[in-house]
Amino acid sequence: MFVAPRPAPAPAVVTSLRRVDSAPPLSELTTLRLGGPAARLVDATSEDELVALVREADAVGEPLLVLAGGSNVVVADEGFAGTVVRVASRGIEQLQRSDGRVWLDVQAGEEWDALVALCVGNGAAGIEALSGIPGSVGATPIQNVGAYGQEVADVIAGVRALDRLSGEVHALDVEECLFDYRSSVFKRDPARWIVLRVSFAFEPAGKSEPVRYAELARRLRIDEGQRAPLQAVRDAVLELRRGKGMVLDPGDPDTVSAGSFFTNPILREHAFAELVGHAAERLGRDAVPPSWPAGQRRYVKTSAAWLIEHAGFARGHGDPAGIAISTKHTLALTNRGAGTTAQLVALAREIAGGVREAFGVELVPEPVFVGHAWVG
Ligand SMILES: Cc1cc2nc3c(=O)[nH]c(=O)nc-3n(C[C@H](O)[C@H](O)[C@H](O)COP(=O)(O)OP(=O)(O)OC[C@H]3O[C@@H](n4cnc5c(N)ncnc54)[C@H](O)[C@@H]3O)c2cc1C
Repeated sequence: MFVAPRPAPAPAVVTSLRRVDSAPPLSELTTLRLGGPAARLVDATSEDELVALVREADAVGEPLLVLAGGSNVVVADEGFAGTVVRVASRGIEQLQRSDGRVWLDVQAGEEWDALVALCVGNGAAGIEALSGIPGSVGATPIQNVGAYGQEVADVIAGVRALDRLSGEVHALDVEECLFDYRSSVFKRDPARWIVLRVSFAFEPAGKSEPVRYAELARRLRIDEGQRAPLQAVRDAVLELRRGKGMVLDPGDPDTVSAGSFFTNPILREHAFAELVGHAAERLGRDAVPPSWPAGQRRYVKTSAAWLIEHAGFARGHGDPAGIAISTKHTLALTNRGAGTTAQLVALAREIAGGVREAFGVELVPEPVFVGHAWVG
C-alpha cells in the first residue's frame, strides 16, 4: 500500500572508533546552533553499525553521546569530552499483519516529518497532528513527542533497543516503554537505552483520528472530536506551527530553538488550587491559569506559556542579537546569532525563577542537557 517503502540497506562495514576524524563544533549539529566541540564524531549508517559503535565505546569506557537531529539538546559551550555517534540509519519496511492496520518498522535515523508525510500521503492515520516536528524517528519514543492532541505513544507498537547495561538488543513492547507525558523508560534512564528501530501500527482510515485540540479544530472548521482529511490536518498543523516559529526555517530566526524549552507543569489538584489563589492575588480574579486532565487521578496539567507570560516575560524578552524568547511563542528560547549556551541557561534560569517567585511553580526544561546539568 505504501509508495516505495525503503528497506534497510545491507549492513555496512562497521566503522571503528579509531578511524574517526576530528569533529566539527556541535553547534553545527544542533537546531539551537549552540555547543562546543566533541572529541570525536562518527556516523552510524545502519542498525548494526550503531550497535557496534556503542558497544565499542562502552567497552573502553568512552563517554558517549548519541545524537540525531540535534533538535532537543542543549550542549555546553565547552562541548562534549567524548564520542558523538550520529544516528544515520535508514529504512522503512511494511510488515504484513492480518489485523487490518498498517504496520511499519522504521530505522531510528529516518526523518520524522518525512514519515508523517508518507503516512498522510498513504491514508494512514495517527500521526498527522505531529507534522512539522523536527528530528529523527528514533528520538520520538524518548520523550514521547506530542503536539496538537496526539502523542507518538498512541501508534507505537514496540521499540527495538540496545541495552547498554547488558550489551544485548531487546524488543520492548509498548507497556515496557512506560510512556507518559514527555517521558518514557528511555528518558528516565538515558544512559541505558539506544533506540534502533520503532514499530508503528496505523489505522488505514483515510481520515484523521478525531481532532482533540481546540485551536486545530477551529482552524479546520470542525468540532473537537470530529475527523478531517489527513492532508487538511497536516496542512493546518504546519500553518499553525509556522505562525509560532515551530517549523524549522532557515529564514526565520524564531526557529533557532529546541522547540518548547519547558514542559507543561503537572500539579496535584491541591497545588493547582494554590496556583489559582496566587494568580488571583497577583493578577485579579479573572486570571485563571488554564488546566487539562493530566491522565492521572488527582493531577492536572497547566500551561508553562501562561505562567511565563503572566510572570512578566514577554515575547522577544532578552538580547535581540544573542539569546531571547521567540517573538512568536513564549515557550521557545532562541539563539538570534551571537548567543552562547551560558546565556541561554541564564535566561532559562531567570524565567524559571520569575515563575517560581510569582506562582510557586517549578518549571522543568524539556530538552536534554549535554556536558552540563540544569540547576533551576
Ligand atoms: C522548532 C522545534 C519544534 C519542536 N516541536 C516539538 C513538538 O511539537 N513536540 C515535541 O514533543 N517535541 C518538539 N520538539 C523537540 C524535538 O524536535 C523532538 O524531541 C525530537 O523528537 C528530537 O529528535 P532529534 O532526532 O533531533 O533528537 P536529538 O536532539 O538528536 O536527541 C535528543 C535526545 O535523544 C537522544 N537520542 C536521540 N536519538 C536517540 C536514539 N536513537 N537512541 C537513544 N537516544 C537517542 C539524544 O542522546 C538526546 O538525549 C521541537 C524542536 C524544535 C527545534
